Amino acid sequence: MDAFSPTPPPWTETAVHGLQFCCPRCCSSANKSQKAWINRRAPVITEDYGRRWQEFYLCECGQAWWAWSSDRPPSDISEDKR
Ligand SMILES: [Zn+2]
Repeated sequence: MDAFSPTPPPWTETAVHGLQFCCPRCCSSANKSQKAWINRRAPVITEDYGRRWQEFYLCECGQAWWAWSSDRPPSDISEDKR
């Protein structure tokens, strides 16, 4: 699973906005998600954050959700995995 694939995975179609940067259904964190996909193709320019993009997660409970990269807690550095 490539989180930086140019093509959105099918499960992102049903994603709902996780306002707290966790699963809207069970509040599980993004670190525990089964899959992740980051929409780098369409960054949004904002006055506050510069650039941000949608990060999609498929929770272990089966709920797909997304949140803005700018809303990620500073301690959650899952993006830096190489
Ligand atoms: Zn969940």
